[in-house]
Amino acid sequence: MKYISSKDIKLGTCLIVLHGISIMGGFIKWPLFIFAGIFMFFYIILDRHRLRCPNCGGFENLDRLNYAKKHVFHCRHCGERINIL
Ligand SMILES: [Zn+2]
Repeated sequence: MKYISSKDIKLGTCLIVLHGISIMGGFIKWPLFIFAGIFMFFYIILDRHRLRCPNCGGFENLDRLNYAKKHVFHCRHCGERINIL
């Protein structure tokens, strides 16, 4: 697989947004902190398996991946072009 799936990027973005909302909600109702932890956990798994450079496994943050959807994008670590499909 020489590309990153844009569905995975969307899913990752959703998980981060849900995590943020749960953190804020946690100050009102503390059990939401547990959900925040769960969302973060799934995000970390997704990130490890699907949101890395397909060539070198280098980490890219979501901002850069979202940018990469519309632009030619090269990995910061190995310089290889990353395709988003
Ligand atoms: Zn790379």
